Amino acid sequence: MAGRVLVVGSYNQDHVWTCDQLPAPGATRLGTYASGPGGKGFNQAVAASRAGARTGLLTALGEDAAAGTARGLAGAEGIELIAEVHPALPSGTAGIFVDAAGRNVITVAPGANGALSPAYVRAARPAFAGADVVLAQLEVAPEAVLEALELARDTGATTVLNPAPANAPTSPALLALADILTPNETEFAALLARHAHQTVDADTLHTLADDALHALCQALQAATWVITLGGHGAFVSHAPGNHRGDRDPAYRVPAHPAQPVDTTGAGDAFSGALAAALAANPDAPFRDGVSFASRYAARSTERHGAALAMPRRDELAG
Ligand code: ATP
Repeated sequence: MAGRVLVVGSYNQDHVWTCDQLPAPGATRLGTYASGPGGKGFNQAVAASRAGARTGLLTALGEDAAAGTARGLAGAEGIELIAEVHPALPSGTAGIFVDAAGRNVITVAPGANGALSPAYVRAARPAFAGADVVLAQLEVAPEAVLEALELARDTGATTVLNPAPANAPTSPALLALADILTPNETEFAALLARHAHQTVDADTLHTLADDALHALCQALQAATWVITLGGHGAFVSHAPGNHRGDRDPAYRVPAHPAQPVDTTGAGDAFSGALAAALAANPDAPFRDGVSFASRYAARSTERHGAALAMPRRDELAG
């Protein structure tokens, strides 16, 4: 597997405090601390790379220790890092508090991610020209994501948009630039509310009949949708006339059996692995790529962490 994937997205330095109970406003608690790489862009780039794709990450960084960490880790993973440097801004950070029950509260400070400029994206055209698949999320400046998907269309790459996080701004123009969209249930419900004025309960989305879910997808945007449903697997909906080698216009792929210990980053594992599979085998039935992504994401849940918990191809059970 050696297709080329260009990920356009964030690098965050995650700062994680673990304590018995989450502190109430005004309270101080003792806990333990760890720091590591994160950000949807970086997580998905590591997944694509470890899943076998030649991978680049177009991102934005400050001029700080986190930027050094990002460069070192990308190098170690064999990821080509293309980073716009913003000396006056910190690299992106996430402050994460986790309690003994695994509940968390998170603050993300986008820093440089929020300043990724369309001009920098445009100047990276050669990286787009070499990519089979361009994969983006919504943790960097929205106008940079728009530019990236336009450029990807222009250079003939397949465009994959993971519309996460759920509260990030989206526009009809942005959705229209995606060949494939990979929301989770919460993100899909948010898109429906924003663009189709439809209210659905994200927690029960997986219980909807296939026909109903397919209709919701295609009414929102004619494209291929892969809604990830956590332990319930994934739902695929194709636009009329473009089933990407699949017989069925809509179907489910069950979750691959796993013994999950930490599902953080499962969605990133899924999107990165799907992009790698599509880049390597563009003419294979789409279902094959989704099955691979499901197997890959299931394996990622069996380890703690996100980016550094991504499995390598040779670690995937049959
Ligand atoms: P996160 O926000 O934690 O990164 P997400 O909400 O974006 O994840 P999910 O829908 O939870 O993404 O999971 C993505 C995919 O990972 C699922 O479609 C499924 O294939 C796989 N997965 C998630 N949870 C499990 C599980 N418990 N067992 C097996 N596979 C799982």
